[in-house]
Amino acid sequence: MTACSKCRAPAVTFIRYNGTHLCADHFLEYVERRVKKDVKKQWTAMGDETIAVALSGGKDSTSVLYLTHLIYGKRRGMTVHAITVDEGIRGYRDSSLPVARKACDILGIEHHVVSFKDVVGHTMDEIAARHDEIGECSYCGVFRRRCLNLKSQELGVSRLITGHNLDDMAQSILMNFTNADLEKLARLGPHTKVQPGFVPRCLPLRSIPEQEVMLYAMLRGIEFHNAECPYAGRAARGTFRDVVARLEDATPGTRHSILRSYDALKPALVEQYPMIHLNRCKTCQEPTSQQYCKTCLLKKRLDSL
Ligand code: SF4
Repeated sequence: MTACSKCRAPAVTFIRYNGTHLCADHFLEYVERRVKKDVKKQWTAMGDETIAVALSGGKDSTSVLYLTHLIYGKRRGMTVHAITVDEGIRGYRDSSLPVARKACDILGIEHHVVSFKDVVGHTMDEIAARHDEIGECSYCGVFRRRCLNLKSQELGVSRLITGHNLDDMAQSILMNFTNADLEKLARLGPHTKVQPGFVPRCLPLRSIPEQEVMLYAMLRGIEFHNAECPYAGRAARGTFRDVVARLEDATPGTRHSILRSYDALKPALVEQYPMIHLNRCKTCQEPTSQQYCKTCLLKKRLDSL
């Protein structure tokens, strides 16, 4: 059996991109050290604050819930909440909800559920039944952001913590580049500036590869929901998932390089696309750069199908 590069105990993993073998203890320490360092770079908690974790119940969000609790759970003046969005996907979200609830019970974190049905009037299954050519995920992403933003504002949340891992980040960066959506690229989290009406996001796992998050959850004994959304097959992200995996396989460290390049370019992108004064949506009064917000435009589109 291969020994840990640090202590000679049996290794549980080989980190290809830096050539080290790590035992369970050193692997857990390695992940936690990097997460703490990354969080510090993204945001400094200033005294009394309420923060929330976007919790689906999957490996990424339950791990980030655990890590948020580890970092902030005992800090005086800090309150941590968890928010689960129930998109209304039968056989998928209904089975992840109990997992999310249990994780919160174990850590003593207050859990809130906000549903598409209540906020936008339709479940994801009802939306899927309309067979719109733009695909389910186009609706889901916009409506989920609305749900999280509304609940965060209601709770007085100053930072929303999400479980995006390194693979998610590399995929989003490449996706926005290939779509020439530089404005979206400039707005990708983590957010260092606060746009009034929107809760800024903190992404503690952004430099941790997906397989490492999975191993972290397993070694820490974190229970998570391991299933794929039935609508994921139609998502454009699938192509980028394959591309990023192939690039990483051919040249270990590529995902980190994509993220580093993005971080180096971000200040220029933010300067090119500065925050603008937002209007109020003419229908729902939520902030938007247009006359109507994306949520209201998509609801209108649904009504016309
Ligand atoms: Fe929503 Fe698409 Fe993700 Fe399913 S795969 S949860 S529809 S964004």
